[in-house]
Amino acid sequence: MNSLWNSCLQEIEKKILPENFNTWFSPTFPSSNDQGRLTIAVPNRFYEKCLTENYLSLIQDTLDNLSQEKVEVRFEVIPGGLSPQTPPVQTPAVAPVAPQPAPTQQKEPSPSIFMQARNPAYQTCLNPKYKFDSFVVGPNNQFAQAACQAVSSNPGLNYNPLFLYGAVGLGKTHLLHSVGNEILKAHPDARVRYLSAENFTVDLIESIKRDQMHSFRERYRPLDVLLVDDIQFLGGKERTQEEFFYTFNSLYEYHKQIVISADRYPKDMHDIEERLRSRFESGLIADIIPPDLETKIAILFKKAESHKKQISQDVAAFLAQNIKSNIRELEGLLLRVIAYASFTKRNLDMALAQEVLRDFTVDKNRNFTIPNIMRTAASFFNLKVQDLKSKRRSREISVPRQIAMFICREHTPASLPEIGRQFGGKDHTTVIFSHKKIAKLVKENKEIEKTVDEIVKIIEQG
Ligand code: ADP
Ligand code: MG
Repeated sequence: MNSLWNSCLQEIEKKILPENFNTWFSPTFPSSNDQGRLTIAVPNRFYEKCLTENYLSLIQDTLDNLSQEKVEVRFEVIPGGLSPQTPPVQTPAVAPVAPQPAPTQQKEPSPSIFMQARNPAYQTCLNPKYKFDSFVVGPNNQFAQAACQAVSSNPGLNYNPLFLYGAVGLGKTHLLHSVGNEILKAHPDARVRYLSAENFTVDLIESIKRDQMHSFRERYRPLDVLLVDDIQFLGGKERTQEEFFYTFNSLYEYHKQIVISADRYPKDMHDIEERLRSRFESGLIADIIPPDLETKIAILFKKAESHKKQISQDVAAFLAQNIKSNIRELEGLLLRVIAYASFTKRNLDMALAQEVLRDFTVDKNRNFTIPNIMRTAASFFNLKVQDLKSKRRSREISVPRQIAMFICREHTPASLPEIGRQFGGKDHTTVIFSHKKIAKLVKENKEIEKTVDEIVKIIEQG
C-alpha cells in the first residue's frame, strides 16, 4: 500500500510544481487499501477538496499506470495529519500529531476573523490597481468612500453588510477592490474574495451541473471577506438568490464582512426576493451620485498622473464638461487624448482635445441609425423588426415599439415624420405620443429606465 502510494508520489512530483507538490502531497499518507480501494489520509477537509478538484484525475491516471489492477482512490480526513517533513509511517492506526497546526480548520467563530492560515490554492480575484490611494474623494462619493474605509479597518464589526449603490461608471467596483486590497494589506492571511454576481451565478450553475454543490459551498463559506459586485444581476434568478441567501447567512453569522454593490437601492430591486432585500438593508447603505465638475477634473488629474502625463487645467475642464457623469467614459476619453498626442507627436493642448472629442462623439453616435435602433430593440425584446413596423397594438409589441421610437427621437437627428415613415408608415403624432409616454415612464419607473439604458448601451457598443 505504502509503496504504491510512494511510487505514485514520485511520479506526481515529476509532473507538478515543487511548491504545489510540497503543499498538497507531502502531508498525505495511505491509511488503508481494501480490495482495490486505496484510502489516502489528508489533514483536513480543505485538502480533501483541493486534491479532489485539482489532482484527482492526475492521481488516478498515475495509479492506473503503476498498478496492474484497478485502484480506486478516496480521501479520508485525519485531523493533525502529517507535517510535510514527516516521512510516511508504516501503520498510522493513530494519526500522528502534526508539529505545525494544519491550515484552514475553523469550527468556532474566532475572536479575530483572520485566524486562518493562508490558503495557497485560493484566489482573491482582486485588482491591485484599484486602491483607496487612486480613488478621488468628492462630495458625490464621500460617504461611500468613508464607509468602505471604516469597513476596511474593522471588517465584520460595525457595518455589515455594506451596500453600495449608484449608476454605472461611478466607482463601485473600484471601491470594492479597494476594501479587499486594504484588508489584505493589514491582514495578509485574510481570505478575501471579490466576484461579480454574474460569476457567482456561473459558478453555481457549473457546480449544479457537475453535482459539486458541496465544493461550491466550501468555496464560499470559509471566506473572511466577500465582495460581491453588481448584485442586481441576481434579479429573477431564484435558485441563485436562494444559494446566495445561504452563503450570506453563513458568513454573516460568523461576523465575516460582506460588501455588496448594485445599480440601485435595495427596495428598488423588484426581482430580488424580499428576504434578501431585507438582509441588504440591515447593514449600512451608501450611495454614489454623479460627480460634480471639480471632482471630475480632480479625477482627470489623478488619472493623467498615473499615466505619467500632465494635462492643463483648461483641457481637464473641457473634457470634464463634455462627459456627463460616467467616469469610465471620462477615463476613456482622457486615454484617447493621451494616445492621440503621442501618435501625432503633438502637444496635449485644447486644439487637440477638441479634435479628439469630436471623433469620440461621432464614434459614439455612429451606430444610432433608425434601422439599427429598430434591430437592436427588436432583438432585445425577442421580437422581429417587422413586429415594430406592424400595426399590432398588443402590449408586448406596442411598448417595445414606443421605446424604439423614443430612442430614435433622442439619439438621431431624424424628423418626426421620418421616424414614423421608417416604423411602417406611422403618423408623426404617433411618434410624439410614444416619445412623451416613454419619457414619463423613464422618470417614474426604474425598470423602464434601465431597459432603455441597456438598449442604448448595446447600440453604442455596436
Ligand atoms: P462602477 O463599478 O460603478 O460601474 P467603476 O468602479 O468600474 O464603476 O469605475 C469606472 C472607472 O472609473 C474605473 O476605472 C475607476 O477607477 C474610475 N473611477 C470611478 N470613480 C473614481 C474616483 N472617485 N476616483 C478615481 N477613479 C475613479
Ligand atoms: Mg462595476
